[in-house]
Amino acid sequence: MNPNGIQIEGLVFEAGSGSSAASLGSGPGPRALTPELTEDDLVLDRSLRPKMLEDYCGQEKVKESLSIMIQAAQARGECPDHVLFSGPPGLGKTTLATVVANELGSTIRTTSGPAIARPGDLAAILTNLEEGDVLFIDEIHRLNRMVEEVLYPALEDFALDIVMGKGPAARSIRLDLPRFTLVGATTRTGLLTGPLRDRFGIVFRLQYYTPEELSSIVLRSAAILDVDITQEGAFEIARRSRGTPRLANRMLKRVRDWAQVRGDGVIDGQTAARALDFFEVDSLGLDATDNRILEFLTVRFGGRPVGLSTLASALSEDPETLQDVYEPYLMQQGLVVRTPKGRQATARAFQHVGLEVPEGV
Ligand code: ADP
Repeated sequence: MNPNGIQIEGLVFEAGSGSSAASLGSGPGPRALTPELTEDDLVLDRSLRPKMLEDYCGQEKVKESLSIMIQAAQARGECPDHVLFSGPPGLGKTTLATVVANELGSTIRTTSGPAIARPGDLAAILTNLEEGDVLFIDEIHRLNRMVEEVLYPALEDFALDIVMGKGPAARSIRLDLPRFTLVGATTRTGLLTGPLRDRFGIVFRLQYYTPEELSSIVLRSAAILDVDITQEGAFEIARRSRGTPRLANRMLKRVRDWAQVRGDGVIDGQTAARALDFFEVDSLGLDATDNRILEFLTVRFGGRPVGLSTLASALSEDPETLQDVYEPYLMQQGLVVRTPKGRQATARAFQHVGLEVPEGV
């Protein structure tokens, strides 16, 4: 290798080294999805993660399109198009990436936007890929521009443009890469740059799950974790899990503990309801932070619009977390609306916090 290293668009790196190596592997890389994503969650996520499309509950449209795409590509002996999954945290984007790789019989390489700091890091990842691999980049909207520039030819032509040497002696060469499929995940497609979004053959928006779908997920997880649960118990947990499988699994674990200590170990409807009340998860699945947001918008602001930064500082929350984690569900439930002037509580929000609905709301 050139002692000066290899240059990519003016930046020196050493192929095959760099921090990216540490971020590759089959487990999730560093993630900043939500402050609540604990180490415990990651272990639970891994043990409960469905492996194949048929184990993946809900998101029927997404599953069907993926299945067609995978079968067609396999029949042609090609790699499927690059795929982007978007949606709030915990809805199953990482799971789908692993499912795609398993269905293809391919190896998945996992990393994340913030973990790829320099173009050289990405080049190291790309040159280590093997034919047919799936490259999963979580939080892909957090890739920096210089790294993105390296990704474009890799996605379009499976090539890496590198500059060898420095100054007048520098020469540019193009390195062929093995064909691979990029699977990207993002909490909001709006955060992706246009050119990057355009390079995905297909974009899937994951939806919140219905209580029935979440109920099957809870029953499946209970069977894996060997938890005694009734249909009613599973439904109660499902209905209060904000349409999110990760939360449903987390609730299941907490309710199991409660049932073991305060009950007879079996999770029926009543036990689940009492345990969830104890954990301050209300009948709509709203947790303490959701309720603080509603209280702020109703009691403090009386239904008038509030800017995101005002809301964030009043609640001591990160604006990005409010926007990605809390707001989508409150909006989906018709409790909050987003107007050009800011966030506003709806009549339903007033009813939910037990206040009279003011005129004009
Ligand atoms: P994201 O990447 O969108 O944050 P994950 O893919 O990590 O979400 O999903 C979190 C956990 O929720 C997974 O480990 C898995 O156990 C569970 N999960 C997600 N989607 C499904 C699903 N459709 N069916 C069953 N379990 C699911």
